[in-house]
Amino acid sequence: IYILAIESSCDDTAAAILKNDTLLSNIVATQEVHQKFGGVVPELASRAHQQNIVPVIHQAIAEANIDKKDISAIAFTKGPGLMGSLLVGTSFAKSLALGLNIPLIEVNHMQAHILAHFIKEQNYKIPEFPFLALTISGGHTQIVRVDSHFEMKVIGQTIDDAVGEAYDKSAKIMGLPYPGGPLIDKYAQLGDPKAYKFTKPKVGGLDFSFSGLKTAILYFIQKQVKENPNFIEENRNDICASIQYTIVNILMDKLKKAVKETGINQIAIGGGVSANSGIRKALNEAEGKYGWKTYVPKFEYTTDNAAMIGIVGYYKYLAKDFTDLSVTAQPRYKI
Ligand code: ATP
Ligand code: FE
Repeated sequence: IYILAIESSCDDTAAAILKNDTLLSNIVATQEVHQKFGGVVPELASRAHQQNIVPVIHQAIAEANIDKKDISAIAFTKGPGLMGSLLVGTSFAKSLALGLNIPLIEVNHMQAHILAHFIKEQNYKIPEFPFLALTISGGHTQIVRVDSHFEMKVIGQTIDDAVGEAYDKSAKIMGLPYPGGPLIDKYAQLGDPKAYKFTKPKVGGLDFSFSGLKTAILYFIQKQVKENPNFIEENRNDICASIQYTIVNILMDKLKKAVKETGINQIAIGGGVSANSGIRKALNEAEGKYGWKTYVPKFEYTTDNAAMIGIVGYYKYLAKDFTDLSVTAQPRYKI
């Protein structure tokens, strides 16, 4: 079975080809137009998708070394995401499925961030059901109980900002370009995580909150800069390390609570922020420290990609879970 997967939910135009659960090609065109705006501009994102989608799909098919006629089905991101962005991928997938006369498969982007763990890799362990998934990305922060490929239940989530937003907004406060998450991570590895202390938000159950932390960081930096205009440049690594330390602690605290409440100690992480060195290290250490079994995705499957859409497509294909051509994009699609 050959699946062509298309992802266009935010600011990356991506296409991939899978042969069963094995990846043959994985192409991502990252849109650089947003950098100077300090965040994704939806209107510009849709236009860039419109420009990128044909070359990206062509490249995915060429690198997989297959012919259009070999494709068994087309999987695409139905949501969640930006309407204008989703529409480009959705419309393209529908037309191509119609043209090639093959099944169409809708995919939930957040489910895909989790099922990315099922892409076949050498020497790679696949999570066993049931497991808990911590999905940390630009728009979401969730703890999901995963009982099978398609039985998923959100048991905790952010009540305001996503963790990726907390990273990107903190970076913006420090004058770093968008997306600032990877830069904070880079500088954090050179700094002292205990240099500055930010209080952790108090939010009940398994839910998260990050907007207070962002404000605390803003006020702290404004105050320091008033006293010393060079504060950020002189202490950049320590500030980043302290922010990262706080965020990783918040995530780990909730995971510990979730393990206690569910009795499940198999943990997988997914989403853009799962590329973060701090959370990856904390999770690896949790194996020895708490006896958890943890799953950390390959870097190319962390931020948005179509490979993860393709693996969901493959499992849905096996289940004959196809979509009608009347399908439309759904910006607030829940798992
Ligand atoms: P969603 O998946 O919720 O719809 P999205 O698709 O826009 O949102 P992703 O591409 O999954 O988000 O993740 C992007 C986010 O990941 C950005 O906020 C980015 O800063 C963050 N990110 C990427 N790498 C790192 C890193 N190493 N450390 C921290 N954050 C990171
Ligand atoms: Fe994403």
